[in-house]
Amino acid sequence: MRKNVVAGNWKMNTTLEEGVGLAKDVNEALKHVDAKCDVVICVPFTHLASVNAVIDPAKLGLGAENCADHVKGAYTGEVSAPMVASTGATYVILGHSERRQYYGETSETLKEKVNLALASNLTPIFCIGEVLEQRENGTYFDVVKAQIEEALFDLSAEDFSKLILAYEPVWAIGTGKTATDDQAQEIHAFIRGVIAEKYGKEVADNTSILYGGSCKPSNAKALFAKPDVDGGLIGGAALEAESFMGIVTAF
Ligand code: PEP
Repeated sequence: MRKNVVAGNWKMNTTLEEGVGLAKDVNEALKHVDAKCDVVICVPFTHLASVNAVIDPAKLGLGAENCADHVKGAYTGEVSAPMVASTGATYVILGHSERRQYYGETSETLKEKVNLALASNLTPIFCIGEVLEQRENGTYFDVVKAQIEEALFDLSAEDFSKLILAYEPVWAIGTGKTATDDQAQEIHAFIRGVIAEKYGKEVADNTSILYGGSCKPSNAKALFAKPDVDGGLIGGAALEAESFMGIVTAF
């Protein structure tokens, strides 16, 4: 079912103590608002179990920022989907552009990660998006379509329906440069069309597609007002409860 979602991506920020404090602050703030969207925080692996212990899962979802492309075994330093799920987390960000860019993640590895996340009943928040050059030379539609097709189109319609997508133009991530609400709507509608072509209109209409890239309280309302923008994946502005809540309450 299509839902509005605001998800924080803390990236490699906060010590355990700071992270638990931030989670408590968001959890507390949510008691005082009637949130019109699902709210999720995706936190470093090291924080998952401790954060899970201080939040109300009925109000605040918990996710990891990545998981391994194997279930278990001799993969030093990796954290598997079943390990993530065992902390109480129910979401996982996959295919973030920083993972693609700095850690060489490809559609092939992401396909595996998505399958393993789903097998552990985690909801993948699957990221797609073009770099600046692709935006400027007009190939961004093809780039985004290929990212979706290559990693996700082997899924059954039933499994595809369990995903959340996040369109994150790389040129807008952490740069202070946001896609305009019209730019976001244009590509979100295109993405929904790509899904409809493969899985049909009903699946497409039921898919939540989030926008990510310098989303903040001041621009969230206009972005979320667009018909195909179902919420946001939030980096920098998720690191303070006040700004994160300013985005949550934009719905
Ligand atoms: C992100 O990395 O997912 C993100 C959207 O970052 P920021 O909000 O800081 O641009």
